Amino acid sequence: MPTVSIVRCGRYDLSEVRRAVEAALAPLGGIRAFVRPGARVLLKPNLLIPAAPERAITTHPAVVEALIGLVREAGGEPFIADSPAGPLHNPVGMAALYRKTGMAEVAGRTGVVLRREADSLQVPTPEGALLKRIDLLKAWKEADVIISLPKLKTHNLTLVSGALKNTFGLVPGLTKPGYHSKLADVDQFCDMLLDVVACVRPALTVMDGVLALEGDGPSTGGVPRPLGLILASPDPVALDEVMCRLIGVDPGSLALFRAAERRGWWPADIALAGVPLEEAAVRDFRLPAARRAARPMRGRRWLLRLVTRSLTPRPVPRRGRCTACGDCVRMCPRGAIAIAGRTAVVDDGLCIRCYCCHEICPEAAVDLRFSPAGRLLRLAGLM
Ligand code: SF4
Ligand code: SF4
Repeated sequence: MPTVSIVRCGRYDLSEVRRAVEAALAPLGGIRAFVRPGARVLLKPNLLIPAAPERAITTHPAVVEALIGLVREAGGEPFIADSPAGPLHNPVGMAALYRKTGMAEVAGRTGVVLRREADSLQVPTPEGALLKRIDLLKAWKEADVIISLPKLKTHNLTLVSGALKNTFGLVPGLTKPGYHSKLADVDQFCDMLLDVVACVRPALTVMDGVLALEGDGPSTGGVPRPLGLILASPDPVALDEVMCRLIGVDPGSLALFRAAERRGWWPADIALAGVPLEEAAVRDFRLPAARRAARPMRGRRWLLRLVTRSLTPRPVPRRGRCTACGDCVRMCPRGAIAIAGRTAVVDDGLCIRCYCCHEICPEAAVDLRFSPAGRLLRLAGLM
């Protein structure tokens, strides 16, 4: 039975975070249950875009630094690797990523290595439900142990972004939107995420829920929300289930958990440790406007596509806010975006509602707008 720890942590003070992480790991056997002397340990934070830690889009550097200290005390050699959204994985983009997210400062203090290269390898995954080969960063192969450090966030496509979503960051740069393109359906997309989890096999997940992200996450559209929590578990499915229950989401309503159920990974009994779930739970956590991931996909697929299309919000770059930087154009897996008259413009006929453009836009310029029918249904409380 997997154990999930919930521990309070009021602020990003390094000693306080470290105490909280140690308390979260104690019921799991402590860091030594995962890291043996000499082990090379890949710490995988969520570094989606170059954003300051207080925006709660990325894993806070204090959480990463606490893990660096613990891994070293266990005799391990930690290093950090991640691949940000699409076109940002290049030398200039990685320098900005590590600087803005506070990782460069952590590296300056601790000497930990920050991996920047986008070199990848294809990993055969015969047991994969959808992908039989997965492109992963080469750094993954060099690690003896993977410790995943997700941020507790909402997500416009999968509704939540936690332990299961975080390993997708090891898929390099522009391969990510490629997967989005091939697997446009959210159920398929979640199946693919679980293929990646099965391939990456994180030994331990420590989730940063001190300052979470609610609303239209997982990027600049979200709003920071202090929860004051650190969660930990060796089982990413169990951890995400507890995260869902903390923020008032029924896991059974999500494509992610339906995919886990198809593999026999879920539901499973969970042993909880630390703060009782009902005590830590928040009642008013704001979910994304695009809640299609919460609805089961049953019935005729073409009809579901049609309904999904008309009832899910479409991305609309906002004139005046868009700087025509072109990041969304390069990221869009369907080539649905062009720059016209110094503003990005979306061809709705090509758009598959993956929301990569919303996720990557550094100016938070991509609005998600419902159709009149969608607005009416929302007003009537029917969606
Ligand atoms: S919408 Fe955002 S990402 Fe796209 S061109 Fe405009 S500013 Fe850049
Ligand atoms: S326009 Fe945006 S939401 Fe639509 S396919 Fe392109 S990246 Fe995805």
